[in-house]
Amino acid sequence: MGWQTGLMASNPPVSGDPSPSRQQAPSSVAASSVAAVSTTAQDEAVEICRDLVRIDSVNRGNGDGNERAAAEYVAAKLAEVGLEPTLLESAPGRTSVITRIEGSDPRRPPLLIHGHLDVVPADPADWRVHPFSGEIVDGSLWGRGAVDMKDMDAMTLAVVRDLLRSGRRPPRDLVLAFVADEEAGGTLGARWLVDNHPQLFADCTEAISEVGGFSYTVSDDLRLYLIETAQKGIAWMKLTVTGRAGHGSMTSDDNAVTALCEAIVRLGRHRFPIVVTPTVRTFLDSVGEALGIEVDADDLETTIAKLGPIARMIGATIRNTANPTQLNAGEKVNVVPGEATAHVDGRFLPGQEEEFLRQIDELIGPAVRRDWVVFDQALETGFDGPLVDAMAGALKAEDPAARVVPYMLSGGTDAKSFSRLGIRCFGFSPLLLPPDLDFAGMFHGVDERVPVESLRFGVRVLDRFLAAS
Ligand SMILES: [Zn+2]
Repeated sequence: MGWQTGLMASNPPVSGDPSPSRQQAPSSVAASSVAAVSTTAQDEAVEICRDLVRIDSVNRGNGDGNERAAAEYVAAKLAEVGLEPTLLESAPGRTSVITRIEGSDPRRPPLLIHGHLDVVPADPADWRVHPFSGEIVDGSLWGRGAVDMKDMDAMTLAVVRDLLRSGRRPPRDLVLAFVADEEAGGTLGARWLVDNHPQLFADCTEAISEVGGFSYTVSDDLRLYLIETAQKGIAWMKLTVTGRAGHGSMTSDDNAVTALCEAIVRLGRHRFPIVVTPTVRTFLDSVGEALGIEVDADDLETTIAKLGPIARMIGATIRNTANPTQLNAGEKVNVVPGEATAHVDGRFLPGQEEEFLRQIDELIGPAVRRDWVVFDQALETGFDGPLVDAMAGALKAEDPAARVVPYMLSGGTDAKSFSRLGIRCFGFSPLLLPPDLDFAGMFHGVDERVPVESLRFGVRVLDRFLAAS
């Protein structure tokens, strides 16, 4: 068991070029039906993904990033098929691209597809293939952004270009947003757009984006596709203790370093109580059944330990967490500093915000000052409705072994910003993954890559999904 699957022989063959008169696939489309999307679109997704990987859009945080070249590339691809994209800059070089595509049914609310254009840094010295080369080696496209998330940007562009070139229209209006700065919390991207240009997303009720829709193989005839319906909240904090500065040779009963470390140890050693939200409950029941593991409600940790490589990620979705990550105090061995600080990466479950704060303050005690570095909400939406049916139907049509399962992301995405507009946000970037790929390890990892066949699969699924959504 693992983050694995085969690109199985059961995967339907790539369809031929579409005829102009073909029907749009319904959500319950049979597995044997022919995909509407062209092979050209599938080829194009690979080319666009390569092009995007080759454009350096590294985001180093603290405002140090530049998405303009990537945004201009995306805008040109959209303009080529007759769209009139809007480019917006929150700061010089921090460019996002938005466009709207008219659907066939004006009574239906628009669907938002959002993807970020920035990537985290990559040191070429660590990689087997240069991280900005976009090389295709062993059937995979390598490079920073290959799974996070220039793959989905490329698949979205390829599908939409194919729709427009072939004169098809999606049932709903589509709003496409290719945004800056996700990797630094979206302050200069999604958050800025939502705060300053909310009208661009007017009436959107639902959204899809990254970190969901990928496969997890159970057996040749059962692959789970994890759809993200929830994510934990972020509570990054700085803790500060002040004490009495003095000579290191003398007695010191008001030592800031000692007091801070006591608080950090209490926090770092604390096991927050287990809270199972509806998403995690459904996930554990579904995965338990699929793997033949009995889910013991009284001993979830033992159950989760049996999940193998995903145990650490799933383990983080049954409780709040607070991991101390940085310490800073003192300059010299014989000088007691007057102040000591620490940073803690806190994450809380949906519905647990107030309880988490109470727990944190109780653990650190009154002598420690707490300041937020980043604070953002947790999300959870139901795993139901026509959009979820459309995801399940599209996956099943391209992979008869597919079964969809909701899951909670322990991290955060731009969905936090877009959900402020009342939009239901899902992680759905469909990929059928090969058996030996450590997919979770690809995100921000060395040798990030995406199998070319996975991209092609994603294009076919997205096309079916849009037709049925
Ligand atoms: Zn991402």
